[in-house]
Amino acid sequence: VLIYGWPDSWVKTTCPYCGVGCELDVGVKDGRIVDVRPSRTSVVNRGNLCVKGRYAWDYIYSQDRVLRPLIKVNGEWREVSWDEAIGFVASRLKEILAKYGPGSVGVLVGARVTNEEEYLAGRFARVVLGTNNVDSCARVCHEPSAQGLEDMLGTGGATNTFEDIDLARTIMVVGSNTTENHPVIGNRIKLLAEQGKVKLIVVDPRRTEIAEYADYHLALRPGTDVVLFNAMANVIISEGLIDREFVAERVDGLEEFEDVVRNYTPEFAERITGVKANLIREAARLYATNRPSMIFWGLGATEHIQGTEIIYQLIDLALLTGNVGRPGSGLMPLRGKNNVQGTAIMGDHPKKLPGSVPLAQNLERFEKLWGVRLNPNPGLDGIEMVDAAMRGDLKALIVFGEDVVMSHPYREMTERALSKLELLVLVDMFHNETSRYAHVFLPAASSFEKEGTFTNAERRIQRVRKVIEPLGESLPDWQIIIRLAKAMGYGDYFRYSSPEDVWNEIRSAWPAVYGITYERLEREGGLPYPTPGLDAPPVKVLHVNQFTVGRRARLRPVAYIPSPEQPTEEYPFTLITGRTLYHFNMGSMTRRTGDQVIEPEDFIEISEDDARALGIGDGDMVRVTSRWGSAVVRARISRRVSRGTAFATVHHPEASINYVVSPAVDRISHIPEYKVTAVRIERVS
Ligand code: SF4
Repeated sequence: VLIYGWPDSWVKTTCPYCGVGCELDVGVKDGRIVDVRPSRTSVVNRGNLCVKGRYAWDYIYSQDRVLRPLIKVNGEWREVSWDEAIGFVASRLKEILAKYGPGSVGVLVGARVTNEEEYLAGRFARVVLGTNNVDSCARVCHEPSAQGLEDMLGTGGATNTFEDIDLARTIMVVGSNTTENHPVIGNRIKLLAEQGKVKLIVVDPRRTEIAEYADYHLALRPGTDVVLFNAMANVIISEGLIDREFVAERVDGLEEFEDVVRNYTPEFAERITGVKANLIREAARLYATNRPSMIFWGLGATEHIQGTEIIYQLIDLALLTGNVGRPGSGLMPLRGKNNVQGTAIMGDHPKKLPGSVPLAQNLERFEKLWGVRLNPNPGLDGIEMVDAAMRGDLKALIVFGEDVVMSHPYREMTERALSKLELLVLVDMFHNETSRYAHVFLPAASSFEKEGTFTNAERRIQRVRKVIEPLGESLPDWQIIIRLAKAMGYGDYFRYSSPEDVWNEIRSAWPAVYGITYERLEREGGLPYPTPGLDAPPVKVLHVNQFTVGRRARLRPVAYIPSPEQPTEEYPFTLITGRTLYHFNMGSMTRRTGDQVIEPEDFIEISEDDARALGIGDGDMVRVTSRWGSAVVRARISRRVSRGTAFATVHHPEASINYVVSPAVDRISHIPEYKVTAVRIERVS
């Protein structure tokens, strides 16, 4: 055991894990991080942290952290200087661009990086590479949330802040294992429910911890969300529970909407979803009448072939009942990663520029700002880039902080696609599953080793502060991008001396954050956008008198499309994938901390009845097989899942459950359907 003693100093920064965005006080002694505590002054976490934020920070000192640039030669990684690595990437990119054109290159950005770095990555793709093939990890988590909110209300972010949790009288949590994936917020909701201050509806096929606290737990069959929410709307309309005044003043499309939901009676919904009709009725009444009501949702809502439409439905429910534009009400997507809200806004999108504005209508403005002609053709998103690599159309890919192989579905196809690339550059802290197909590895600094900002799930922009110097030769991503731009001959277009410089350019590009300066963040703490004026307070509740789309919003009726992954005799189970308390996403950080001791491997939850029928004991290894692939994982017999449903975690490369997951995607946002795959499960001797 190493004992480092009491810190000499404390630095306030933002948690590198989930979208709650808790603020940390990080203790430093002799230039080394030795402790992390919750910041006492944070309005976000109010003195709390979860097991990840508080204890899982020592990955930065992991023995296997990559601290020097690497180039792969004859299948072996070779350490090189920064100049050689950057020179190599630049010359390969130039060759590929000259031979195949800008459509052959792409950039993918994970949420590990700051807002400033996300902005620069998108700018690099558009200005230097001349392509709109740029996307973020939001594609595989919350793109439907951003798209749905933007399509219907005009702003792709939460309508209220976390402060409003205390004002809500009803909270509906949809597809979110809140106490494990957003624990600090989960805890707040749990306490309010326990104290009787809020009524709680949980919509989830699993009996998660938060479901234990619910007044109504609607345990629907995976993939039947559309039917359930249409039935709730049906009850609200047929029982006269809509907010007539609000709808008359601010909502269009009621008749058309009624035509669609009329057939989705609670009895019909019971047959499809498995949720008792009476339970649907009572939950709908509660949401509509015990106001203000807030809806929180996670990936259980978005990761479906109708993911974007499910978000439309949640917004429909809020519009029908006047639960938007008011304190304590609203719509709150619990963004998974620390800065995925930032990626949605900073321009890492094939069809949108910074500020999440459409490419076509804003081209000229950004041409002026950036001083170059921009490619007007929409690019490929992350899913399309992998497909293009498979076809041989995409030749080069730069990935900032994302393990594409681990995180995309149908892993076998993803691997084949990436193996065809002529150049794959990873910018990261550790080798990951994607490394085996990479040609160059550029070592990135952790968030404790750089300055910048993150945006959390409630739209709050918070400072990331440098606690220690970057380890080894690692560099912050913003500096790596600038070096690459210079080597490509675009140094004059990337003259920034600090992340604050970059942020000030973002302020000039996106009026919603003009009023948020580094100096103000220092003085006032994190601020939600929009904060357009330097002296103005932030707008915490959106859409108060009018929506961003205008005075009135339009309801969007959604018809149910069953998933192609229906259980069959050969594949009788429905697999849901997800995350646990102790690990974060693909686990590359938490697996290198003490959390790994607590939970060293992935598991699959199977019901007692199914386990008995299959002769599977608790802790047995099982093979999970779908039409797309198979994985071996340890079984956990659980009362959280019902018969015919299984739930597997996604954090460990040894299991790699994404070998099994179907490649079906949402037709609007292209998010993969991680929550519904037909599988069979067999004990492995
Ligand atoms: Fe970090 Fe999220 Fe835990 Fe807060 S709740 S400490 S942001 S992982």
